[in-house]
Amino acid sequence: MSNVKAYGAQDSKSALTSLVINRRDLKPNDIHIEILFCGVCHSDIHTVRNEWGGAIYPVVPGHEIVGKVKAIGSDVTKFTVGQTVGVGVMVDSCRTCKNCIDDYEQYCESGATGTYNAKERDGSGEITMGGYSSEIVTDEKYVLRVNQTENLAAVAPLLCAGITTYSPLKHAGVKAGMKVAVVGLGGLGHMGVKFAVALGAEVTVISTSASKVKEAHSLGAHHFILASNTDALTPHASTFDIVLNCISADHDYMPYQNLLRLDGTLIIVGLPEHQPKISTWGLLKNRRSIMGSMFGGIKETQEMLDFCHEKNISADIELIPISYINEAYDRMIKGDIKYRFVIDLSTLS
Ligand code: NAP
Ligand code: ZN
Ligand code: ZN
Repeated sequence: MSNVKAYGAQDSKSALTSLVINRRDLKPNDIHIEILFCGVCHSDIHTVRNEWGGAIYPVVPGHEIVGKVKAIGSDVTKFTVGQTVGVGVMVDSCRTCKNCIDDYEQYCESGATGTYNAKERDGSGEITMGGYSSEIVTDEKYVLRVNQTENLAAVAPLLCAGITTYSPLKHAGVKAGMKVAVVGLGGLGHMGVKFAVALGAEVTVISTSASKVKEAHSLGAHHFILASNTDALTPHASTFDIVLNCISADHDYMPYQNLLRLDGTLIIVGLPEHQPKISTWGLLKNRRSIMGSMFGGIKETQEMLDFCHEKNISADIELIPISYINEAYDRMIKGDIKYRFVIDLSTLS
């Protein structure tokens, strides 16, 4: 067992502060990673503030991890010391259910083990702690190869924001000729725009922030709708094939569902605190579908990382020291980030 520096929350109301956590001794299939960068996902805030319930304190968040392999267990075959690697939203799953075998570990029938705030499956009773820390020890099966060699801080958000938007857009068959709307231009949303554009779609950003118009276009979006008031969406009813909803706060889903044309799909990846009501009449019109999607399996996450490497896609980030994390959370709540905070973990020491 080794003691490592970390940042975390002791309860749902207090600011995050520094603390020391334990990392386990290497098991045969484990790799020990020195963490370089960790993105700040809105799920970190939902969990720290216990907005979804079930938080186990102290919570050390962070599931957009990029680092270097420091040591490997005796049976490790995928990685060598010194290699650049990533860890995303999960660190384990049952490995035997149909979904795990089919490379959909995120939909493990007994629930995938989150990178933080989850009970380890080894019977130790330990709670997983995430990437707001200097080091992590984890099973190689859930670790990703990072071939990118430059700007690794901007690669970190691909491990959650990237795969969470790539996976449903691919599953929905987004391609040239399709009209895609991305709602909520935050960490997930801006990656959704980049992927939808890379897949050839005509992309519209729907945002509550007038200040994001220019950047939306520089991300590749073709159109921008300012929807501080959802009445602004009425003229666009029944015009989109796909609406990717990345909103983090409670809101009415109806105005977005109404945007779908025949056989259109509302993809929900945002996870606000309270559950919305769905209109059945609104669904029947245009034979609309609603699809939820949870990050991605290891195979698809690797595919996404390789796709980003090939197409030179990464996140637009603001690099911060760990001491700035509480201010970063406040700014994210206000939508004041273009588009992902990433923590430089060298500032922890
Ligand atoms: P984020 O960076 O904070 O972005 C959220 C965006 O939502 C904001 O930038 C803002 O965009 C919009 N927004 C905020 N409040 C709003 C309101 N009241 N009404 C309308 N729009 C509002 O968050 P994120 O990290 O991208 O995460 C987004 C959501 O996805 C979170 O709920 C997170 O927990 C969830 N998530 C889900 C998965 C999954 O597996 N499905 C994975 C990761 C994250 P504008 O300024 O453009 O309006
Ligand atoms: Zn996340
Ligand atoms: Zn499983």
